[in-house]
Amino acid sequence: MDSPVVYFYGDVSSLRRGAAGFFDIIQKDYGAGRVGLKVHFGEGRNDTYVRPEWLMDVKSFFPEAAFVECNVLYRGHRTVRESHVAMARSHGFDFLPVDILDGESGELQAEVPVNVGRTMKAKLGGNLLNYKRLVAISHFKGHMATGFGGALKNIGMGLGSRAGKMDMHSIVSPIVRGDRCVACGTCVRDCPVGAVSLGTVASIDSGKCIGCAHCISVCPSSAIDINWNMSHEVNRVLMEKIAEYALAAIKGRRWWFINFITGVTYDCDCFDLKQEPFMGDLGILLSRDPVAVDQASLDLVKEKNKGIDPFFKKHGVDGTHILEYGEKIGLGAREYELKKVCG
Ligand code: SF4
Ligand code: SF4
Repeated sequence: MDSPVVYFYGDVSSLRRGAAGFFDIIQKDYGAGRVGLKVHFGEGRNDTYVRPEWLMDVKSFFPEAAFVECNVLYRGHRTVRESHVAMARSHGFDFLPVDILDGESGELQAEVPVNVGRTMKAKLGGNLLNYKRLVAISHFKGHMATGFGGALKNIGMGLGSRAGKMDMHSIVSPIVRGDRCVACGTCVRDCPVGAVSLGTVASIDSGKCIGCAHCISVCPSSAIDINWNMSHEVNRVLMEKIAEYALAAIKGRRWWFINFITGVTYDCDCFDLKQEPFMGDLGILLSRDPVAVDQASLDLVKEKNKGIDPFFKKHGVDGTHILEYGEKIGLGAREYELKKVCG
């Protein structure tokens, strides 16, 4: 079988023109009609997310396009729909409708059978079922738990509902930060399975916890959080679950994947802070294959860093595991053909 094609546009002085060229390729494949653009709006003070001005021309190719996204697990602007949409608008994503696929705070959910690895049914944002043709627009950068984040993470973790995201993280229950807990009892009352008890501060019984993450969103003191203190093996399991969710997300729908290797930082765009990129912009990649586009992005970043994976060097997490596992479960191929597109 032929290797998947990855198009590379390397003129960083005109990324808008590059993106328009890619939308032209996609439009010839998709034709007219509704298209969902899976983006990440960036959290708070973050400013290295894919700039909306580079995407402006999408309207002339797909007048019925919408930005699609799901709410996040941790407390921030993007935890619930209202502030999530407001965040999107304030970051410049104001020229298309914004469709938060899992509703107000994760209650809209579709269980998609996938039956691979540890995932029988992936819990995805329910309104994803309304889209048959999508484009993943991903910022390629580092991540402390998965080494790097690109197309696979954007659609795997990104399209999980609140419960889906917690399912992917469910190898760890949330943790209570005792110094912040004011013992108000809200989490005890709201936990659907009675996994939280209250002494001087709240505590979570990980044996009972089903990983719904509701307590994270209801705590008024931001005292409950995901346990990010992960071991090597837990990181690998997390990557596998993200790949399994990505497989569910592409099942029965058509996708193209655009990776922006711009503003490359060591950490993800979910941090509410301004981060300094550690290398210059490289350009944009386009493929139908999410494994190939992430592999090609990583290869280009390594090439620019003297053959060293800078994300592994920083976080000690080998992100190639998600590529190996993604290929194993049929998400795509690590061997690809790179086609340079002129600026
Ligand atoms: S994640 Fe859900 S089940 Fe677990 S303690 Fe919090 S509210 Fe309860
Ligand atoms: S909701 Fe937050 S502050 Fe209230 S008891 Fe639970 S952890 Fe503590």
